[in-house]
Amino acid sequence: MLLCCRTRPARVVPAGYDGATQGQARFLEAVGPRDPRGREVVMFVGHLGVGLALASRSARFRLGTLLGAAMLLDVLLGVFVLAGMEQVIVPPDFATAHYLEFVFPYSHGLLNSVVWAGITAALAGAGWLLIGRGAAAAWIAGVAVFSHFVCDVVEHVRGLPLLGEGFPHVGLGLWKAMPWALALELLLLAVGAALYLRSRPGLSRLRRGVLLGVLGLLAVLQLAGQLGGGMPPPAPVLAVSWIVQTAVLVLLGLWVDSGRVSSPAAAVSGG
Ligand SMILES: [Zn+2]
Repeated sequence: MLLCCRTRPARVVPAGYDGATQGQARFLEAVGPRDPRGREVVMFVGHLGVGLALASRSARFRLGTLLGAAMLLDVLLGVFVLAGMEQVIVPPDFATAHYLEFVFPYSHGLLNSVVWAGITAALAGAGWLLIGRGAAAAWIAGVAVFSHFVCDVVEHVRGLPLLGEGFPHVGLGLWKAMPWALALELLLLAVGAALYLRSRPGLSRLRRGVLLGVLGLLAVLQLAGQLGGGMPPPAPVLAVSWIVQTAVLVLLGLWVDSGRVSSPAAAVSGG
């Protein structure tokens, strides 16, 4: 695991920086220098694959809930960006590099990720997240949330902060080898979808088809977005899109799981 410390050259604020207020610009200066080569994209379908795989563990683990849990940190990123507490940076060469930069200590820091996972686990354990109640529900929900941090650590170049922006960052930087990173995401999605469908033999053809259609469309869109050109929309639009797309996926997952009539093949007890 690459440990990125903060002994870096003077900070470069890209000309294409998007969505910054004066206060945000001051915040960016306050957080200190960053590696101008450090750019991140948003991992997406890989998180969905993890959610699908976790949902396959029990009939009680509703797909919509676990897709939402796996994407929770990006939803929080959207909320904090809209609140001016976290930032999206568009480097000048985004059109060719296809990376975004983030300052996201509250949504994606290690400590904060543990806290978000703990809160979600507590809600699930109490029976409030449509995945049963008790220890199994708590564990699966907590793992789903924290899996987001783990997956992002694998791919992000600059890394995710351990505590805050002034602390070391961790990241393996798989995005430096984008084809492999995209292949990993697609593999996670495919494995997760296969496990989920195998665990839901009673799923109707309609629900199965809609789920596969949406997942396939998202995979194509992500590939096109990362390999194609063009500039991203303004930061507030990105933030809203992360929130809305997750909400849609949660509803889709709840709908897909609502019509099952038979027990899953990979059920575990205690959920
Ligand atoms: Zn993320």
